[in-house]
Amino acid sequence: MKSARAKTPRRPAPKKPPNSSLKDPVGVYCRVRPLSRPDQECCIEVINETTVQIHPPEGYRIFRNGEYRETQYSFKEVFGTLVVQKELFDVVAKPLVEDLIRGKNGLLFTYGVTGSGKTHTMTGSPGDGGLLPRCLDMIFNSIGPFQAKRFVFKLDDKNGVDVQCEVDALLERQKRDAMPVPKTPSGKRQIDPEFADMINVQDHCKVEEVDEDNVYSVFVSYIEIYNNYIYDLLEEAPFDPIKPKPPQSKILREDQNHNMYVTGCTEVEVKSTEEAFEVFWRGQKKRRIANTQLNRESSRSHSVFIIKLAQAPLDADGDNVLQEKEQITLSQLSLVDLAGSERTNRTKAEGNRLREAGNINQSLMTLRTCIEVLRENQMYGTNKMVPYRDSKLTHLFKNYFDGEGKVRMIVCVNPKAEDYEESLQVMRFAEMTQEVEVARPVDRPLCGLTPGRRFRNAAFREELSRKLEMRGGPINGETEEQSVSEMFLQNLPPLPSCELLDVNDDQTLPKLIEVLEKRHKLRQMLSEEFAKNVLAFKTMLQDFDSSVVSKENYIQGKLSEKEKTIAGQKMELERLEKKIKTLEYKIEILEKTATIYEEDKRNLQQELESQSQKLQRQASDKRRLEARLQGMVAETTMKWEKECERRVAAKQLEMQNKLWVKDEKLKQLKAIVTEPKNEKPERPSRERDREKPVQRSVSPSPVPPPSNFTTQVAESQRLASNPQVHRRSNSCSSISVASCVMEWEQKTPSHKHTSGTPNARSRQQEPGQNRDYNASDRRRGMCWTGVIEVPRRRDELEIEEDQCCRGDVFKTRGGGQAVQFTEIETLKQESPTGRKRRSSPSDPDPPKDAADSEWTDVETRCSVAVEMRAGSTLGPGYQHHAQPKRRKP
Ligand code: ADP
Ligand code: MG
Repeated sequence: MKSARAKTPRRPAPKKPPNSSLKDPVGVYCRVRPLSRPDQECCIEVINETTVQIHPPEGYRIFRNGEYRETQYSFKEVFGTLVVQKELFDVVAKPLVEDLIRGKNGLLFTYGVTGSGKTHTMTGSPGDGGLLPRCLDMIFNSIGPFQAKRFVFKLDDKNGVDVQCEVDALLERQKRDAMPVPKTPSGKRQIDPEFADMINVQDHCKVEEVDEDNVYSVFVSYIEIYNNYIYDLLEEAPFDPIKPKPPQSKILREDQNHNMYVTGCTEVEVKSTEEAFEVFWRGQKKRRIANTQLNRESSRSHSVFIIKLAQAPLDADGDNVLQEKEQITLSQLSLVDLAGSERTNRTKAEGNRLREAGNINQSLMTLRTCIEVLRENQMYGTNKMVPYRDSKLTHLFKNYFDGEGKVRMIVCVNPKAEDYEESLQVMRFAEMTQEVEVARPVDRPLCGLTPGRRFRNAAFREELSRKLEMRGGPINGETEEQSVSEMFLQNLPPLPSCELLDVNDDQTLPKLIEVLEKRHKLRQMLSEEFAKNVLAFKTMLQDFDSSVVSKENYIQGKLSEKEKTIAGQKMELERLEKKIKTLEYKIEILEKTATIYEEDKRNLQQELESQSQKLQRQASDKRRLEARLQGMVAETTMKWEKECERRVAAKQLEMQNKLWVKDEKLKQLKAIVTEPKNEKPERPSRERDREKPVQRSVSPSPVPPPSNFTTQVAESQRLASNPQVHRRSNSCSSISVASCVMEWEQKTPSHKHTSGTPNARSRQQEPGQNRDYNASDRRRGMCWTGVIEVPRRRDELEIEEDQCCRGDVFKTRGGGQAVQFTEIETLKQESPTGRKRRSSPSDPDPPKDAADSEWTDVETRCSVAVEMRAGSTLGPGYQHHAQPKRRKP
């Protein structure tokens, strides 16, 4: 037998203070019971889920000088009169049970005055189970299938727990069964009808996450603290009805882990709710008997029902409990139904009873003091000693407040008016208790074995029995074997008595011999049958063996076939793998090539793009250049056209002038030649026209500069449109031809049209011309003395003769100008080389020969011009221009 002492992890050593950051306040709940009678005065109201209001009953203020004050108290939750037990259990007790199964400790107590419903809440009333049976029910619902066999866990007398193997446990069970000690009630037994309806909980409430790889055992103990003495309510002491012995009180001890426990207290292992509650009920009965016998007031005692849960993990096979004491966890839930908290005088106790009551109240007073000091220490950081030892009650629960665990209190109040003052006290204490904090219990460490062991083991066992059943074998070999041998023994004829009472007894021995012979025969028969059976079994086995062998052979063949296939497939696999590798290599190469190509492609595309961009740029440049060139060409063409026109015009003018000069010379020559002889009867009109100005010799025509063609034209037209100027021009011999030309021009609209632009411009400018002239007058003075060169050629080859006409320009009354020639100077020059001399240095037109040759027929041409010398600084004071008869458009 291997036993282990469990180290209860629930209470840490005092040197190791609990983690202060993980603390929970004491959970205080309030339950208001309904009034016993509806006509009773009520002084407590439930305001909301967490608040109750208490007010003094009618007439109360009379005694207190009219003071009337309503007070409200807040709790974690308040349960009104209509709240059912289940609701209370779900909120208050369920978390404690969950903690218990997870290896954590808990304390739940009811507090209040007598008759406020403490017992009703904790134990329940007939037909309405309280928290205790519900807790038990939940525990067994949760651990039911995982419970260890009885005596696997063994509590020792030092608040420890041992574990032993199942065989030892079995032996102990048998030993206990043989003992005359009353057996612990089994779950299958008939439940006591007295409490049957209190444990008949239909909720099937259970903890969700129970460790299935653990085995569990529940132990219950029930003690009573009365008059500061502890009594074990489950102790089985022989009862002497003649001289009843008072019950022996128990003492409190501290175990090696500094936990408090009641020495020698009975702890009963229970396997079901019914069993556990029966144990409780037994204690309850005993309590009642003692109260009656010893004339005690039951409401003066505190009852403590302790549920201990031992749990240990299964071994690696998931079959048996792990035999390691370190792995055992022992958790504890204490359900306490405190004595009534009312003051002594209220009970009107006397003598012995008063002392008891005082003591009881002393326990509650100590509880109050302990909680007050605890609260003070926690709130103000003081280190006052908590007087736990002052009463058994507080001493027993010292570790719940000092150590770790969950502490919950249900404050029971009766709203009736008589309880007002007591209820006030209860409320104040309860509210204060909420401020005390208790260290939160830590989770127990994991065992380190694979989870799901129990399930696997169960599945294995099931499969095994299924297989055995299929093969026709025994499902449960052990039991069957037992039954066969039992049957065999039963079938044998009973042996007669072998006692020889008389010497002459000749019947006993023959009878015995007969029986023995019969037995022998039977045995022989049986052995024969057995041999037969053996033989049959042997043959069966052989058959089976041969079938197995044949099957094996078949399987072997199949196996070799399969192996061959596998080998072939393996080879194929290898080949394919090689192929895959080659292909992968190829793919790699191809990918690389593709990458290179893509790179090339990208580069080329980039290049293409840049080239196309360049091309576009070039094309646009080209277009721009073309446009520019076209513009330039057009410009140049226009320029040159204008230039040509200008030059042509100048040339024409020059030639006309020359022609005219020649004409004049010719005429003069003619005149010279003809004069000495006689006057000619008839003279050409041109000559006549020329003579007039010579006779008058007052307004010689100025020579206009050949470069200013537009101005010349404009001026000539202005003159032409001016009758006054025209008249004067007519009077001038040198411009008589020009006036003729002008007349012709006026008569010929088509000719006007040819030089339309300058004419038009001239006409458009006419209104402002006076202004222009005035401006030019200011610039150059009122009179201009000019020289008009009239080139003449006496001889085509050798002599060049120039005539200079000098004259003055006057401003006319009409705003125009008039030229008056004053003298004519003839300049002669002989050219030794016979080269032609330019008549005017300012004339840029070189081709004269051609012009001369063209303009030989003097008679057919008519052109007279009076030019102002080009380049004269005096400006164009007067320009006279004669249009040629034939002119290029
Ligand atoms: P205490 O234990 O506080 O002295 P009990 O639990 O014995 O009080 O209650 C006294 C009586 O009041 C009992 O008969 C009980 O059935 C009844 N009672 C108490 N609380 C309730 C409740 N919440 N609902 C119904 N009846 C109640
Ligand atoms: Mg009670």
